[in-house]
Amino acid sequence: MDFKNIPSVKEQIMKCVRCGKCRSVCPVFAELHYESAAPRGHVFMVQMLRDGVVKPTEEVNERLAQCLLCEKCTAVCPSGIDIHELNAAARSYINHKNPSVGKDLLFDTLWTSPALLNFSTTLLGGVQKAGLQKLARHTGLTRLLPGNLPQAEKILDKIPLRNARSRIAEVNPAQGEQRFKVGYFLGCATDMLYPDIALATIEVLTSNGCEVIVPRHSKCCGLPHIANGKLETARDLAAHNCQIYNAYDFDYIVTDCGSCSSALSAENLNFLLGQTADAPAAEIFAAKIMDLSQFLIEVLDIQFPANNEARPVKVTYHDPCHLANIQKVTEQPRELLKRIPGVELIEMSDTNYCCGGSGTYSITHYQTSMKILDKKMTMIKLTGAELIATCCPSCIMQLNYGLRQHDMKGRVFHPIQLAREAGRKKARNSA
Ligand code: SF4
Ligand code: SF4
Repeated sequence: MDFKNIPSVKEQIMKCVRCGKCRSVCPVFAELHYESAAPRGHVFMVQMLRDGVVKPTEEVNERLAQCLLCEKCTAVCPSGIDIHELNAAARSYINHKNPSVGKDLLFDTLWTSPALLNFSTTLLGGVQKAGLQKLARHTGLTRLLPGNLPQAEKILDKIPLRNARSRIAEVNPAQGEQRFKVGYFLGCATDMLYPDIALATIEVLTSNGCEVIVPRHSKCCGLPHIANGKLETARDLAAHNCQIYNAYDFDYIVTDCGSCSSALSAENLNFLLGQTADAPAAEIFAAKIMDLSQFLIEVLDIQFPANNEARPVKVTYHDPCHLANIQKVTEQPRELLKRIPGVELIEMSDTNYCCGGSGTYSITHYQTSMKILDKKMTMIKLTGAELIATCCPSCIMQLNYGLRQHDMKGRVFHPIQLAREAGRKKARNSA
């Protein structure tokens, strides 16, 4: 679709009253302190781009790409402007005008094929020991790909030998009486970087009466594509996923990744597919998609019996921006944690402060990302918690890096991994 005709670009910009509310919550503006790095500046920039006052150059793209797409600004804008959508639409427009072989290769070819992506990630795991820096030097990848591979090397957690998809069945029957038929949306990061989260998800859901199906042909949720100016590819991926999941008669579709659930949410699917022939399929899909913690609390009402032997453990919870800001899923992960025997939940001073990860942002904007991360790690340190829980693999990777950078003890978990342990203890006790 033509950039100027995207509804948010066409209709929303003039609603900006320049109040600056968005600026006051933006984590990037808090670090960089200049207007063109603030959401209000982005709105103005997109307006100038739309009206032809500025040209769609790489320089303009770089200014817009400073945004994490965390949606904090959108959540507080009194005029209801989808600032992150404006930004994503503008990046896509600029990308069209400035094609890049490396980006096309990464986002249109590799990241649209789960098999190719998995192969490349396995390869990456293989060369991780040798060092990505060497790989980059020998292959010239640094010239082709966005971001900085040597920095990526530092941030990446150890890549496991086997991804989740190769370890879980397509159909996982419910244990005991079946309550729901659930489609599991397995995101790329969970699949390839944190397969244990996927294994825990399957175990907890099946042991709580769900038949869990992991469709073999699902693809990436499209969020990396949106962030990197590949809106058309994100549309294709969304349409594909809706079609695949709608072919099953699921009661619910769940994902353990906050970024995936935001990309697959009704708002985002409407942004991508609202004006296309795939809009009805997107509506059917969006009515069933749910974050895993929301499903566990609101639908399953999962319970863990009291366990006097449970070791008391202090846990703090980090809100993934994509889950908290627009989807408003903040209480359910906390409630899940509080129900786990032994867990004492300790809140950070600012419960909704970004970690600076945001998918590929920590690789493409390392310096800014690290400034934001430093603040986050200080907040975590002050809680005295030994475990950090969060519902997004991208945040897990960033926070793990924060622990290493700040020489802090502690471990980062997805709440589902703690729920699985509590469930196993429950099973052992009742045996
Ligand atoms: S909060 Fe909304 S209306 Fe206010 S300056 Fe930001 S974009 Fe404009
Ligand atoms: S989406 Fe987040 S980082 Fe981007 S402008 Fe809005 S508040 Fe700032």
